[in-house]
Amino acid sequence: MPIAKGYAATDASKPLAPFTFERREPNADDVVIDIKFSGICHSDIHQARNEWGNSTFPMVPGHEIAGIVTSVGSKVSRYKVGDRVGVGCFVNSCLHCERDLYREQYMPGLVGTYNSVEADGVTPTQGGYADSIVVQEDYVLSIPDNIPLDKAAPLLCAGITLYSPLSHWKAGPGKKVAVIGMGGLGHMGVKIGAAMGAEVTVLSQSLSKKEDGLAFGAKEYYATSDAETFKKLAGSFDLILCTVSAEIDWNAYLNLLKVDGTMVLLGVPENPVPVHAFSLIGGRRSLAGSMIGSIQETQEMLDFCGKHNITPEIEIIDIQDVNEAYERVIKSDVRYRFVIDIASLAKD
Ligand code: NAP
Ligand code: ZN
Repeated sequence: MPIAKGYAATDASKPLAPFTFERREPNADDVVIDIKFSGICHSDIHQARNEWGNSTFPMVPGHEIAGIVTSVGSKVSRYKVGDRVGVGCFVNSCLHCERDLYREQYMPGLVGTYNSVEADGVTPTQGGYADSIVVQEDYVLSIPDNIPLDKAAPLLCAGITLYSPLSHWKAGPGKKVAVIGMGGLGHMGVKIGAAMGAEVTVLSQSLSKKEDGLAFGAKEYYATSDAETFKKLAGSFDLILCTVSAEIDWNAYLNLLKVDGTMVLLGVPENPVPVHAFSLIGGRRSLAGSMIGSIQETQEMLDFCGKHNITPEIEIIDIQDVNEAYERVIKSDVRYRFVIDIASLAKD
């Protein structure tokens, strides 16, 4: 079994710490990847701290993985040694059914990149805060030449999680789209939505990031701490994408939709979402949810970002600083995604 070095949470209340573990033996259709960079998604924090109640430990988080192929099995046809590749939130999807190329992330056979169990049904999956990973070739993404590996990493979750609903609900010219929360996910929504031709508005807690939001392509930027925002923008949007995981006043935001508009939940609040029937029936509005995207759609997103030169804003950190980075994400003190330089593992 290949040995990997990384950082793991050993239980929900402990900081992440150095951890050595075994990856599964590569099969003929597997690609072995030398991980170079790994993004920190807020979902990593939720799971490392068991905030969703479904965590198993020890856990190596990380599902925004970018690296270089170091070996391929005899049946691998799409990748070769030296290729620049990515791995996102899942490493298998079709254990129980025929693969659905556009909806596989919703299938019961989904195998998460970490906090899940491999296709063999027993081996725990471990994520990207580590120096290597073994992945079946169908779940490996190709990174466009013009996107550096460090900036590619956050596209594998934050990028696809916004691209998928923007594409599904047909954001484009003539569509008014609002993004609630301009963090890791939200800032990608602004960049991708604007590149698709939609008119994007940011709804942030304050105006402190307004200059950035406008530079990323937003047409307007409002503070949700100001009650005037909700009066002024009532009935304005075709689509609202909510990237906030905390409790917000759902009815107030639904009221910002046009007739037939849709609000899509992307963030995962801890409690049920209290919505008044009038907030929906009064404008034939829809409340929906969306989770990451399929592998095919993720490749489409990477190619779209390559073509439009869209990359996330990142702050590179050493892996030894991961626990401090978690605290800063929680305080919304990140511009806009932390990315771990995996080479820093050598310092331990
Ligand atoms: P993040 O970088 O922490 O961004 C979240 C943003 O929400 C913050 O930057 C902040 O934006 C806003 N916010 C935070 N606390 C708030 C509060 N109490 N009230 C109002 N707004 C608040 O996190 P992320 O990595 O983008 O992830 C966001 C959420 O999406 C997490 O719950 C994560 O688990 C989830 N997620 C879901 C999927 C999916 O497939 N659906 C995929 C990845 C992540 P402002 O400072 O601009 O207000
Ligand atoms: Zn994520």
